Amino acid sequence: AAKADGRGVHRFYREELLHGAQNRKRLEDDLRRALAAGEFRLAYQPVVSTADARIMGYEALVRWDHPQRGAVSPAEFIPVAEECGLIEAIGAWVLDTACAEAATWPDHVRVAVNVSPIQFANPRLPALVAGALAATGLAPHRLELEITEGVFLNEDASSEQMFRALKALGVRLALDDFGTGYSSLGYLRKAPFDKIKIDQSFVRGAIQPGNRNAAIIRAIVSLAETLGMETTAEGVEQQDEIVLIRGLGCSHIQGYVYGRPADAGTVRAQLDAAEGYAVPIGHKTSR
Ligand code: C2E
Ligand code: MG
Ligand code: MG
Ligand code: MG
Repeated sequence: AAKADGRGVHRFYREELLHGAQNRKRLEDDLRRALAAGEFRLAYQPVVSTADARIMGYEALVRWDHPQRGAVSPAEFIPVAEECGLIEAIGAWVLDTACAEAATWPDHVRVAVNVSPIQFANPRLPALVAGALAATGLAPHRLELEITEGVFLNEDASSEQMFRALKALGVRLALDDFGTGYSSLGYLRKAPFDKIKIDQSFVRGAIQPGNRNAAIIRAIVSLAETLGMETTAEGVEQQDEIVLIRGLGCSHIQGYVYGRPADAGTVRAQLDAAEGYAVPIGHKTSR
């Protein structure tokens, strides 16, 4: 139901965007008001090691609880925020909030934060990241920035400089949604990624006999390993898929099978339970 609502809102927003500057301004105001009113919050989804089922980190995912429309999906409002320039302020809030939360977790647990291509094009991003780390005391290697292939669309010397500046801070970089969009292997040659996140569209159906996705995942993993990068399979929903993904050599799994994005309190309970080892849904233990 939430999904359908989200799509409804999306259509609503798209229509408004098409109807000129006045409505657009209203949306912009709505997002700005939401930020000031504290209507955004973060949900965290576990990222689990395939080797030993230990929770290695969480991806921070922004949520908007709209007073009238209810939950609005980030897939709907992030593009609007990008168009009206508010992504900078929202992104800064996400970064600060995620780092502050992660600083309370055990030392081996990382946090991943999504960075919009618009933020990535801003020369002030490294200072913003450094500021969030300094303010929260989070060790740089515990922060992973997720970047999509969108950052390569207007590729120039400055993107290479940005990669260098971010790596110089000691943070980790992940290439998100790999295999969608305008994938080019050239990106992997140039950019110092620590991890490739294999898009969930490749996990869908991969367990079916004769499905080609498994072969594609295997090839991506082999490429990543050669380049010294980790791999996370996104959108893993079933226990059968865990077995397949582990067999294909992915180093990490993220998906509903280990937990939906949840609030910070749930995360702390999860990290306390079973000493931070993840348990697949539907799987009962005596611990
Ligand atoms: P993403 O970064 O690829 O995040 C993964 C998305 O997959 C999340 O959707 C997550 O809830 C969903 N997901 C995780 N496991 C499963 C699964 O097993 N099955 C299925 N069907 N879906 C799963 P969400 O939270 O709706 O976010 C959508 C997108 O919005 C994100 O995709 C990301 O591109 C963007 N986004 C979210 N938070 C932020 C943010 O703070 N900043 C920016 N710039 N973008 C964000
Ligand atoms: Mg992501
Ligand atoms: Mg993704
Ligand atoms: Mg995505």
